[in-house]
Amino acid sequence: MTTKNTVCVIGAGPSGMMAAITAARCGASVVVLEKKRRPGMKLRITGKGRCNFTNACDKSVFIENVPGNGRFLHSALAALSPESLISFFEELGVRSVVERGGRVFPASGLSNEIVSALMLELQRCGVDLRLGWKVTSLSAGEHGGFRISSVNRPDTGCDCAVLATGGITYPQTGSTGDGYALLKAAGHRIVDPRPSLVPLHSDAPWIPRLQGLSLRNVNAALTVDGERVEEQFGEMLFTDAGLSGPIILTLSRAAVRSIDEGKRVWVSIDLKPALDKETLDERLVRDLAEWSRKSVKAVLTGALPRLLVRVFAERWAVDVDRRCAQVTRDERKRMVDLLKDFTVPISGYGALEEAVVTQGGVDVREIDPTSMESRLVKGLYVCGEVLDVDGYTGGFNLHIAFATGFVAGRSAALRVST
Ligand SMILES: Cc1cc2nc3c(=O)[nH]c(=O)nc-3n(C[C@H](O)[C@H](O)[C@H](O)COP(=O)(O)OP(=O)(O)OC[C@H]3O[C@@H](n4cnc5c(N)ncnc54)[C@H](O)[C@@H]3O)c2cc1C
Repeated sequence: MTTKNTVCVIGAGPSGMMAAITAARCGASVVVLEKKRRPGMKLRITGKGRCNFTNACDKSVFIENVPGNGRFLHSALAALSPESLISFFEELGVRSVVERGGRVFPASGLSNEIVSALMLELQRCGVDLRLGWKVTSLSAGEHGGFRISSVNRPDTGCDCAVLATGGITYPQTGSTGDGYALLKAAGHRIVDPRPSLVPLHSDAPWIPRLQGLSLRNVNAALTVDGERVEEQFGEMLFTDAGLSGPIILTLSRAAVRSIDEGKRVWVSIDLKPALDKETLDERLVRDLAEWSRKSVKAVLTGALPRLLVRVFAERWAVDVDRRCAQVTRDERKRMVDLLKDFTVPISGYGALEEAVVTQGGVDVREIDPTSMESRLVKGLYVCGEVLDVDGYTGGFNLHIAFATGFVAGRSAALRVST
């Protein structure tokens, strides 16, 4: 049996729910097919359960924070800006707060409030939300439109389809890359999906000894085959396997690609970014003279976090029990070099299960950015993380999902009404 709906949305994540609400508000009859038993599984765990759903910044700053095809978003951001998204949720009863770096969260601090608001609105708009429907194919319908097949369910017919199946990271939430296969079958090119915003691994033997060390106000530079390709300032963390924390996640996008290409990758940490080498050297001359009778360990303990002292001394190759007065000029210069360039060799990156977002996806040249309609298959719309668009942390990725979902839903409804 085939049922007839005007718009069928595949996937009930943030992009799919927004597309469905928007299409229904524009007058379309909408069905949503979601393979999980609950909608918005990934949305619930975003922002450590607090849901950083957008970023209160202007369009140019937003696009700067989307290294993966940010320019594709001009129309979507014009259609649904961060302010409009904040107002959208406010109208649904969700008040928000703006935090450090423009990050916007629900004031309750609960991502479930966002999911519940979306579900209530889907219901209010009369959207038919079907849970436990895993879509396996999308083909041309007998009388136009599409025929959508799902596992152990009757086929669904529709005039327009909106594909909102997400990426490939955190697959336990339902994002298992099904959309790539559906789009490939429809003739689309898929740019290799890889993890992004993911911890980096290092096989340096001293790494496990630094586990749990968090560094604030440091500069980390990504070096690929000897060339500095990107730098970030802020907070990072040592794990048992390597590096993590905000600035490392940001660097991971470029690092993952370079590792996959077999290039040699390092992260170079400037532990004293506020001081240039000359000033740092002058300061060390002063400190070593002042503490001349004390051990090198005492100076290092004053300059570095406790956990780093021994590893640093080993890499510096100076005995920590030596007296400061015995440190030679050459050793002092090497200490300056190591403080300014504490390199960590990178050997790999975390699994898909721990990556926040996917880089890669459907080639955006094949999608019209003003409508999110496929340029190859009329009546097929694509939105959210399945697109080859990805941003840094800070609310950008959820906003991309909501804004592209909004445009896709509006365009699909417009198409069926004309
Ligand atoms: C731990 C974590 C924290 C994050 N925190 C933030 C944050 O605070 N701020 C931010 O901006 N971004 C954050 N993100 C990223 C953000 O969650 C995603 O970019 C966003 O959820 C993408 O939305 P989407 O609707 O495109 O896809 P998804 O949220 O992945 O939703 C896709 C939906 O499609 C369904 N589906 C898939 N295949 C099928 C199929 N064959 N048939 C039917 N249904 C299907 C899935 O079950 C799923 O429900 C975080 C991600 C993770 C993993």
